[in-house]
Amino acid sequence: LDHVNAGIQSLAPYEPGKPVETLRRELGLTDIIKLASNENPFGPSPKAVAAVTEAATEGARYPDGTGYRLKQALASFHDIDPARITLGNGSNDLLCLLGQILLGSGTNIVMARHAFAIYGLVALGMNAGVRWAEARAPDSAMPYGHDAGQLAAMVDDDTRILFIANPNNPTGTWLSPAAIESLLEQVPARVMVVLDEAYCEYQSPDQRPDSRAWLERYPNLVVTRTFSKAYGLAGMRVGYALSHADIADRLNRVRQPFNVNSLALAAAEAALGDEAHLTRSVDHNNAALPALTAGLEALGGQVLPSQANFVTADMGMDGDQAFQALLREGVIVRPMAGYGLPRHLRITVGTEAENERFLAAMARVLGRTG
Ligand code: PMP
Repeated sequence: LDHVNAGIQSLAPYEPGKPVETLRRELGLTDIIKLASNENPFGPSPKAVAAVTEAATEGARYPDGTGYRLKQALASFHDIDPARITLGNGSNDLLCLLGQILLGSGTNIVMARHAFAIYGLVALGMNAGVRWAEARAPDSAMPYGHDAGQLAAMVDDDTRILFIANPNNPTGTWLSPAAIESLLEQVPARVMVVLDEAYCEYQSPDQRPDSRAWLERYPNLVVTRTFSKAYGLAGMRVGYALSHADIADRLNRVRQPFNVNSLALAAAEAALGDEAHLTRSVDHNNAALPALTAGLEALGGQVLPSQANFVTADMGMDGDQAFQALLREGVIVRPMAGYGLPRHLRITVGTEAENERFLAAMARVLGRTG
């Protein structure tokens, strides 16, 4: 397989958290909680579940490959022309499609250290390079967060995409709207700025950018969103991109004809219409996240500021060891060594009971009484 491109040869595959069922089997534990993949602890909207059940009766037919109804719903939600919306099999699909239309040998992407790993995989998969922008200092107000100035400085003549995760996974940190805007002002128009807003629903209103308005001013901006987090549909795999119509047109040329299945289309449309479920989910997160942070700090942890549905913390011990010890307690979190944070754990905000159980287990792991 020597002819496989050098970028792919150099890749290490993305390793998602294992499903709970697999871990139950592997560990022989019955009572496991999983706070490892930033999923909504309330699950999907009941309206989405009902819509899926109904859509299943049409399951012998191919889905609507244009995603007409969901795009109409999103167009009215965002007040945007549906020709500027591209649907994806998760927002991940859109990140890959952007790579396909823009990258190749001799080109590169710019991304921040400790940023969402998929960006790098997209680049290497297309035999493109990665130019890493240094993150903010560990003792800054936004430890390990994106640094807008560093990101802008890494752009060179061969850069085709600059990725921003806002808020970022796995740090939970975010850039101020002013910092992103200054980045958009500085980056040449030939570089696509991909603003990945997978967790934006959790942001406080004063820190959440009006990315929709920016789309009118910056034709090189692509905003990606997902139904996987606050909408509770991670298993359905549906996300979308908002962009200039010309970019949507190019994405549309390379995507699979039926990249979003009919159950996902129905689920997303129903979820978008269930504002109450979204509000419940976000309100829970916004109450539980400070409590989880305080609990970790009480155990001596150094917790990164987060506006997402997870927190990342240095608990004063090796992250992989902490992960293994928590696993033996039946609590699954994510160690962050793969992200260059060998002492950090990422913990998804769960239900109140799950968060308490995690904190008690963490206390035992650290040798304190829970
Ligand atoms: N962007 C970020 C920052 C993420 O954390 C994730 C999920 N881990 C995604 C994109 C992709 O999510 P999905 O494909 O489920 O939409």
